[in-house]
Amino acid sequence: MSRLELEAALNPEQVEAVTHEGPAQLVLAGAGSGKTRVITYRVAWLVEERGVDPSRIAAVTFTNKAAAEMRERIEGLLGLYPLPAFVGTFHRLALRLLRRYGPKVDLPNDFSILDGSDQLTIVKRSMKAAGVPDDAFRPQAVLGAISQAKNKLIGPALYNREVDDFFGRKVAAVYQHYQAALREAAAVDFDDMIRLSVELLRTQAPIRRRVQGQWRHVLVDEFQDTNHAQLALIEALVGTTGQLTAVGDEDQGIYRWRGAELENILRFEHTFPGATIRKLERNYRSTQNILDASGAVVARNEKRRGKELWTDSGAGDKILLYRARDEEDEARWIAGALSDLEPGLGWRRLAVLVRTNAQTRAVEDALLRRGVPYTLVAGVRFYERAEIKDLVAYLRLLRNPENPLAFERALNRPARGIGKTTQTKLSQLAASEGKSRWALLADERALRTVLAGRAIQALGRFRQLIDDLRREAEILPLPALLRQVLDATGYLEQFDTEDEADRARVENIEELVSAAQELTEKEGYSGEEDVLGAFLDQASLASDTDSLGGGGVSLMTLHAAKGLEFGAVVVSGLEEGLLPHFNSAADADSLEEERRLFYVGMTRAEERLVLTTCRRRRVAGKWQDQEESRFLAEVPGDLLRVEHSPELFASRHEPAPRWGESLDRRRGRSREDVMRFFGRAAEDVSQEPAEEPPTAAQARLFEPSTPAGGRLKRGSRVRHGKLGLGKVLSIEGQGDDAKLVVFFDGIGRRKLIAKYAQLDVI
Ligand code: ATP
Ligand code: MG
Repeated sequence: MSRLELEAALNPEQVEAVTHEGPAQLVLAGAGSGKTRVITYRVAWLVEERGVDPSRIAAVTFTNKAAAEMRERIEGLLGLYPLPAFVGTFHRLALRLLRRYGPKVDLPNDFSILDGSDQLTIVKRSMKAAGVPDDAFRPQAVLGAISQAKNKLIGPALYNREVDDFFGRKVAAVYQHYQAALREAAAVDFDDMIRLSVELLRTQAPIRRRVQGQWRHVLVDEFQDTNHAQLALIEALVGTTGQLTAVGDEDQGIYRWRGAELENILRFEHTFPGATIRKLERNYRSTQNILDASGAVVARNEKRRGKELWTDSGAGDKILLYRARDEEDEARWIAGALSDLEPGLGWRRLAVLVRTNAQTRAVEDALLRRGVPYTLVAGVRFYERAEIKDLVAYLRLLRNPENPLAFERALNRPARGIGKTTQTKLSQLAASEGKSRWALLADERALRTVLAGRAIQALGRFRQLIDDLRREAEILPLPALLRQVLDATGYLEQFDTEDEADRARVENIEELVSAAQELTEKEGYSGEEDVLGAFLDQASLASDTDSLGGGGVSLMTLHAAKGLEFGAVVVSGLEEGLLPHFNSAADADSLEEERRLFYVGMTRAEERLVLTTCRRRRVAGKWQDQEESRFLAEVPGDLLRVEHSPELFASRHEPAPRWGESLDRRRGRSREDVMRFFGRAAEDVSQEPAEEPPTAAQARLFEPSTPAGGRLKRGSRVRHGKLGLGKVLSIEGQGDDAKLVVFFDGIGRRKLIAKYAQLDVI
């Protein structure tokens, strides 16, 4: 990477930034101006020209996908040189520190990481413990407030001292319990990872010196989205000796709601004295029309410095706006438009961006019908699917059987006769004996005080199972261990190979085994003595499915698209309430953030930008008339070409599609398509609460019907008065009390009790 090579690949301003000498610099520039390129070239320059040891370089960004792309670009530039010690997200960086030095901030070595649903469970419990009723305060809101506090590095004690409003005082009480519960579970949440890393580096001088000595060069992409805690982490890493290159664009700050502070940009020179601020003005990504359109929109924001971008790539096509009748029409049209664009660009260079996750369903449906291959980026998280969480829970238990959350999850999955009552009694006993539930399993005498023989036996078998597997874990490589877990637990037996949803679950599990295989084989992990640990961390950190197969059109939220680029981009759902989102339209700051989000979406496009909007939309099953987004009016008219749906003028009043119709439509799709779709359907089903037990009054109405255990068996086709046709997946127990799991067509899995279920075997 000689200067000559640099000058061939970069413009003069970029060269300055890449070869910068001095403590800190901030490159502040618009979308597509080559900020990420500056980071990747600087890494190559440092290693090849300045002779910096790659182990002294850390490059940080926000999403896994962006990190993967950055790693790839750096790898391409570095050729045979080793990769930098760290290229990844803030959370992965924090995790790296805490795995090594966790005990210094009172974390055990094998702490686990909570995901969103675990967090919510613990918040609900903490609310109960703190006497805060969850019908008065939404658990999500309480969790949000705790998260905001953590992002400002405010611990429970300080929080408690500082709040003075009613809601705040309640949050303070919950916060105490929540942290205590995390400590007890030996777990951290995502916010803690950053907070504790900062604490580590601030309080432990020898470690700080060691870490600062190691990472002499810190490079940060998307700097506009850092929050207070992340900035503190950067500061602590850089110290007085390190060199920092940060790049960002204040027009692309889209994480204010998560505590990101644009102030971090505005106060950069104050935070890092002697820093250089640089600008880049030439855009290499988009056509002039796309730049003008996006530039005109974002110019409406008041909170910005203002900048112009130019390109010499020509005006290009106009921005296409499609006015659809409803979201189905919109989705169908998008699928058609993508098919038209594919021959020139290829599927991989196309993207559909949405404001909310829920919007993807209609688009997916249309893409499937048209046979357009697609990848859902950061949609339903692979590692949050029920079956994957189950298996990961087993792996966690093998590392540490005292892990309370994993214990709870694995104990009766698949069902092994350890019901709710047994679980409750076990928990109560654990509390009164002051032991963990796992430890209690070995204490038969204590168990006998509260549990019946059958329950004790079932618990004993579970303990034996985990003990056996733990012995295997010491010798087996990870993929083999995972298969052993599947065998020993009989996990796969609960699935019906004839059932599409079940097949998708099995395929997800196969995917997990592949991921384990991949990690085990991956170079760079060969030196890692603890593949299982690394795998569990990976499962916790994964926030999208991009490393697990993929290809085709990218379908994702605007937030997930940051930093990426595509030949053609569709931004869909330009309606009031969606973009700007109804949560945000009220105050000016949030509205500006929504506008930035739209700007981020528009500027992902290289050649073609398409916008769509609907006249009406089904919201929670009900039709709702939609108003066009105010942002559309901000796009200069002469840059737009408008197309109206013919259906807009046909005043047909169709009945809403019949329940399950969209399922029927999917028949006949390829296995992969079905899997992709049902991967999601399966998730939805698993999140549904199990069927409520019938009330006493209802129960009397039901005739104790078929002497179930007798005629019903696994695989029986059955009919239920309300739920329709289905297939029995499993039966537990006998006679009237038998518990059944039945998969109902078009509805999903339901748990039933034979005597109340009134099932006809057909
Ligand atoms: P964003 O704000 O969206 O993250 P960015 O500023 O990080 O954008 P890059 O992704 O680094 O921009 O660059 C945009 C595109 O322009 C990339 O495809 C990049 O390779 C290309 N590019 C940047 N600088 C140059 C250059 N000097 N010569 C040729 N191509 C360039
Ligand atoms: Mg970038």
